[in-house]
Amino acid sequence: MTLLKLTEVDTFYGGIQALKGITIDVEEGEIVTLIGSNGAGKSTTLKSISGQAPVKAGSIVYKGTHITKFPPHQTARLGIAHVPEGRKIFPKMTVKENLTIGAFSLSNKKVIEENMTRVLTYFPRLKERLTQKGGTMSGGEQQMLAIGRALMMNPTMLMLDEPSMGLAPIIVEQIFEIIMELNKNGMTILLVEQNAYQALQIAHRGYVIQTGEIILQGKGSELIHNEKIKEAYLA
Ligand code: ATP
Repeated sequence: MTLLKLTEVDTFYGGIQALKGITIDVEEGEIVTLIGSNGAGKSTTLKSISGQAPVKAGSIVYKGTHITKFPPHQTARLGIAHVPEGRKIFPKMTVKENLTIGAFSLSNKKVIEENMTRVLTYFPRLKERLTQKGGTMSGGEQQMLAIGRALMMNPTMLMLDEPSMGLAPIIVEQIFEIIMELNKNGMTILLVEQNAYQALQIAHRGYVIQTGEIILQGKGSELIHNEKIKEAYLA
């Protein structure tokens, strides 16, 4: 079943057109990756979906609902979780407070506790550090916290914006393991990465975006062997 469909999406920042007719879809249960170089429009695509960038034309449908003009709190309520580039955790708040904020639109304490327990089984490292201030955590731990916070709403789709950014290879490995585990347990994932090789290794399908347009798409296993991609993004 198609969970998410973008059709001919145009997004502008003032007079600058960042997305030029983006058409992509994500099936339930898939890992789909969006790769491309700096400034190609990867982050803007995620922001257009979650309601943080102004879509001017085209449509975005999630689970059959037109969400093109939905603000972030509404897309979150529908089950879309967005982990932004650079993590954006709250540095002065504890790990537990950061996680609790992720459940902002839930009011049932029991559900929040259940979600917390579930999130902490994915991230035992966070469980050991519940009272530590977010800002004093390592980069990898902060990335885990950002993902954990997004999972607190029990979303149906997780959008990750460059989770590997600035992390040592061994930590990236751990983050990707967790992404795969989440997916095995049913989470649909839309993954933006500059680390094309790693992303294509775990993705069912991928799209290549260049100056606001999709220039190539296919199975992860095919794209990883594509000569054009090897040349431009796997160097
Ligand atoms: P990166 O990995 O560098 O973040 P990206 O593929 O995610 O790259 P975007 O951040 O989506 O790229 O940017 C796409 C284009 O939109 C770029 O030309 C960028 O300069 C422009 N842009 C992004 N955000 C804004 C903004 N808030 N105001 C104006 N222009 C923006």
